[in-house]
Amino acid sequence: MKIILIGIQGAGKSTQGNILSKKLGIPYLSTGHIFRDIAKEKTPIGRYIKEVMVSGALIPDGKTLEIVSEYLKRPEYSKGYVMDGFPRTTKQAEAFEHGIDKVIYLKVSDREALWRLSYRKDEREDETLHALRKRIELFHELTAPVIEYYRKKHILVEINGEKEIEEISKDILKALKQTSSHE
Ligand code: AMP
Repeated sequence: MKIILIGIQGAGKSTQGNILSKKLGIPYLSTGHIFRDIAKEKTPIGRYIKEVMVSGALIPDGKTLEIVSEYLKRPEYSKGYVMDGFPRTTKQAEAFEHGIDKVIYLKVSDREALWRLSYRKDEREDETLHALRKRIELFHELTAPVIEYYRKKHILVEINGEKEIEEISKDILKALKQTSSHE
């Protein structure tokens, strides 16, 4: 099963993605993690990606698609995956033809997301208030249309991300079961 998780930063995508990955027995991957790894490299591409990430901006679509497609060629992803952080723009979604089964939109308000992030312990270099605000702004501008793109394809599941962690994962699993039994 190929699942995509969409939500603002702080919505709980990585928490829920990891739970879902264990429950369904498919790997979890996140473009944020992939890019953070590349940003550690002391190469021109590493330095470039680091600079973009620290500013809170998005990596250009072409580069993102190239890196994601390369990653998904690995045999561990052949049976499915839970993907967090991609696609983030309509262009990425349109270009990504990998037979996605379900797209889970974890919905939380900007206020709740900023509140959660301000309490996050594992501080990251690319998590300054400026970068966080920029990511939230870009989410509304560029990623909200991706949600509508998948809604029109009837594979979108909208989940209230402001409940307790266990309740949210139950809701996700329930929604996945319900929708797959209709097909
Ligand atoms: P995240 O951990 O998902 O918040 O991602 C951190 C940063 O990685 C983002 O602010 C972007 O700079 C970059 N990034 C992650 N996923 C994407 C994507 N799908 N498209 C473009 N940039 C991305």
